[in-house]
Amino acid sequence: MTPATAFDPDVLGLPLFEDRHRDLAERLDRWCSGRDWAGPAGPADRCRALLAEIGAAGWLRHLDTDRPATELRSLCVRRQVLAYHEDLADYVYSIQELCAAAVTRYGSGEQRRRHLPGLAAGTGIGALALSEPGAGSDLAAVALEAAPDGDGFVLNGAKTWIAQGDIADVLVVLARTGDGPGPLGLTAFLVPGDAPGLKASPIGAIAPRSWAEIAFTDCRVGPDAVLGERGRGYVVALDVLERARMTVAAAAVGFAARAFRLALDHARGRRAFGSRLADLQLVKSSLADMRVKLSAASLLTARAAWAADSGEDYAEASSTAKVYATEAAGEIVDAAVQIFGAAGLVADSPVERLYRQVRSLRIYEGPSEVLQMSIAESL
Ligand SMILES: Cc1cc2nc3c(=O)[nH]c(=O)nc-3n(C[C@H](O)[C@H](O)[C@H](O)COP(=O)(O)OP(=O)(O)OC[C@H]3O[C@@H](n4cnc5c(N)ncnc54)[C@H](O)[C@@H]3O)c2cc1C
Repeated sequence: MTPATAFDPDVLGLPLFEDRHRDLAERLDRWCSGRDWAGPAGPADRCRALLAEIGAAGWLRHLDTDRPATELRSLCVRRQVLAYHEDLADYVYSIQELCAAAVTRYGSGEQRRRHLPGLAAGTGIGALALSEPGAGSDLAAVALEAAPDGDGFVLNGAKTWIAQGDIADVLVVLARTGDGPGPLGLTAFLVPGDAPGLKASPIGAIAPRSWAEIAFTDCRVGPDAVLGERGRGYVVALDVLERARMTVAAAAVGFAARAFRLALDHARGRRAFGSRLADLQLVKSSLADMRVKLSAASLLTARAAWAADSGEDYAEASSTAKVYATEAAGEIVDAAVQIFGAAGLVADSPVERLYRQVRSLRIYEGPSEVLQMSIAESL
């Protein structure tokens, strides 16, 4: 079946999902379909406004929870629908989820009470600050120093590529406390965005979004800033990323479903050589190829989310879904541009935007090559 909206009903109808997921997909799709996504001009202001809007509509309400884990099929459903409709809506939603997941799963009662209500209302903005100029894929190399100082810590160093880093009210920051070698010497902290000594500078991106590098200069935090146990920050980071990986696959499916829809409509409406583009055999072949990849990506993503929610070991399924869906989305969007011809290259047209928006998914939360290595090692 052709996905006319963000979801392929054939996949959503499988027993991997329950009625509450089908209901969620339908409600969110309806909410998104009726929206005017235009907003403030700058990416930071747009992200802030979108988060407030999504929060006010109740789509983040589940983040204020005492349950140890957010249910992953719902998270994938939300990302797929939001990505289908609006890149930035998916972006702000996903980062809010990442930050809240760290607080929910590792925060003390007091930390959860302080941060989750704002994150769930969209009035408080979260960020997850792991990457550094010298530590991206290799998080064990994180160097930002957190030196003990009285009963607290003083942070010195830099983070970079941080989504919402320039607008965040609270950041989960991975830093080196030196309790052990390599990954054993890392601790996670909750740092307020307005902490003295923290300075965020926006980075321009291929698809405009709130994205920043952050300098920490004698930035002091109290003992209550430690998130989880001292020396266990690497575990916090890997756990949050491993769970989120399949949601990147879901977003990729959302982008790809949109590109496929646009390409199909265009191919059916455009005439060339006395027929419709959609009647030319090589165009048909391209559309069929897009459809096959889209189906495979949807099914791998659904399987990973189902495995996680069923309490099964899901690490390999999550990586497999992310590698396949993000690579396939890149190919599907590229094929859509080809079917549009020159019209697909017009700046700020929907297909041209998708071409830029989908690229980062193959890099963040584990580049394809890093995940391929871990899949190979699990064989
Ligand atoms: C849009 C976007 C948003 C982001 N948001 C955040 C955020 O909110 N918080 C945050 O902390 N970080 C964020 N990042 C950073 C992201 O996590 C890193 O870009 C990612 O981990 C890769 O690190 P790197 O860019 O330093 O690349 P590197 O680690 O330098 O790797 C470069 C390339 O080398 C190859 N490579 C690396 N390691 C291996 C390996 N073991 N085997 C084979 N090949 C390998 C891969 O092709 C990889 O793409 C974001 C990035 C993007 C693009």
